[in-house]
Amino acid sequence: MNEAVVFECFSYAYPKTEPVLNEIEFVVPRGSFTVITGPSGAGKSTICRAMAGIVPNYYGGRSAGRVLVDGEDTAGQRIADLTRFVGLVLDDYESQLVSLTVEEEILFGLYNRGLAPAEALPAMRKALNEVGLTGKEKLRLDELSGGQRQRLAIASVLAYKPDVLVLDEAASALDPEGAESLYRMLDELRRDYNLTVIVVEHELAYVLPYATQMLAVVDGRVAACGALDEAFSALWTKPELRALVPDLWQIKFTMEAYLNRKLGEWRTAAEAAAALQTVLTKGETEEYDQRRTG
Ligand code: ADP
Repeated sequence: MNEAVVFECFSYAYPKTEPVLNEIEFVVPRGSFTVITGPSGAGKSTICRAMAGIVPNYYGGRSAGRVLVDGEDTAGQRIADLTRFVGLVLDDYESQLVSLTVEEEILFGLYNRGLAPAEALPAMRKALNEVGLTGKEKLRLDELSGGQRQRLAIASVLAYKPDVLVLDEAASALDPEGAESLYRMLDELRRDYNLTVIVVEHELAYVLPYATQMLAVVDGRVAACGALDEAFSALWTKPELRALVPDLWQIKFTMEAYLNRKLGEWRTAAEAAAALQTVLTKGETEEYDQRRTG
């Protein structure tokens, strides 16, 4: 099966609310790095909860359509069974940490699932190694930095060896350096273990270097989805959605319109500078100036 997660015309309303998701259609290929973006209140966290099965299985409410995880409808499945396939790290990840020390944090969950120490200890060491926390096993949680606690929350989910890792606004409490290093690490995990990574992120500049596709959600509906070029182009054609296009791509689309040529996929400022340097030969710059002033 090539699809890790499939939303089939999925709609959802929390108990006593109007629908907050409307006919969501979306496919997450296995091994992809998907970024979900959109304004606050658009329904991004609810989509994450639906992938982990806690919507609607834990929250209740009304739903229509289906969410398939590894080909199976999440409806009616036990949340604990689903966590073997989908690991969810919440935006409020500190609330996911419940133990005194690093190793207890990971072992707590594994023992809860009935693993014997012979299985749990190697799983704990592997998960800590994957997030760069080897050697910190005996540290108390209050001895870790914010970034390290974030990595621990991810490790405690990775220890269950999920195929899909979902992070909801994971970088919101990190400084830019911490955020960059978090997303670099997630991309390495994706490549090394064919992990499917799905992140909700406002600051698209952090994830542009890694994202293989995106989903933009506005008012509980899919506003655009697909490969970056396809999805950002769709947003760019609608003036009311242009603010969702990252600054770098806003410059790219503006230059493309002036130069009447495609400038490639801009994932970093360095790539943008290189593309512009190549394309803006002297003649074209003059032509561009003339068009702008004339
Ligand atoms: P986002 O993650 O894009 O900010 P959410 O998925 O958190 O959006 O919220 C989408 C809508 O669902 C909002 O209107 C929000 O108020 C509502 N909502 C979120 N959680 C609950 C809940 N537990 N009960 C009722 N309404 C909720």
